[in-house]
Amino acid sequence: GEHIPTYERIFKRKDGSLVPVEINVELVRDAEGKPVHVQSVVRDITERKEAQIALEKLAITDPLTGLYNRRRFFEEAERIFSRAQNPPFQLALLMIDIDHFKLVNDTYGHLAGDAVLLEVAKRLSEGLRPTDLLARVGGEEFMVLLPRTLLADACGIAQRLVDTIYQPPVPYDGLEIRVSLCVGVATLDAHVTDLDQLIQRADQALYEAKNNGRNRMVAWTETS
Ligand code: GH3
Ligand code: MG
Ligand code: MG
Repeated sequence: GEHIPTYERIFKRKDGSLVPVEINVELVRDAEGKPVHVQSVVRDITERKEAQIALEKLAITDPLTGLYNRRRFFEEAERIFSRAQNPPFQLALLMIDIDHFKLVNDTYGHLAGDAVLLEVAKRLSEGLRPTDLLARVGGEEFMVLLPRTLLADACGIAQRLVDTIYQPPVPYDGLEIRVSLCVGVATLDAHVTDLDQLIQRADQALYEAKNNGRNRMVAWTETS
């Protein structure tokens, strides 16, 4: 027989529900080569499709918090950064790190630590706009890219995030876990030519926030 390449379609069941199928069509000929009939095999590929979607989701999201992961953040951030160049628009980056997180694990256990991470992720995303890019980029580290945001506004947002994490404490298993974090803020200027430089600045500012007593945000300045 002759195969026509396999193709996929969405079929509608009688009850209206949709089912993804793979169709194999084969032209069957007799001994003289005359086409006798067309044989087609239709296979339900729901499971394969679902597995594929789950894998794609896994590749871009952090399994604990559901936030974008590091890889997805950098892909998206590079895109936003290059768009910010031409025509130029302001861009802010927040580097976020939970204070003394190791102590949370050591005091209350790893599960409590996970619960804190989840709650922090939730409060961070609730404190941001849909156009802001938030990701969990490390164990207890998050990054946010704020498109079209000036330094003063970025500092305001960063301070709000600091406050929303500190108060109220995170409830866990009848306990109230006090959590704080530090935020380093950096914005574009003529000297910043790539994303890495912006990240370096935010990182320096974060380092300062850690040294200045934690539970705070610091913005990068010339003297950082
Ligand atoms: P600092 O205030 O200087 O930021 O100190 P820190 O304790 O927050 O930072 P450190 O880097 O010393 O420790 C981070 C800890 O985060 C260590 C690691 O075991 C923990 N961690 C990383 N990923 C996870 C996770 O997914 N779940 C839990 N429960 N802990 C995690
Ligand atoms: Mg850290
Ligand atoms: Mg930390």
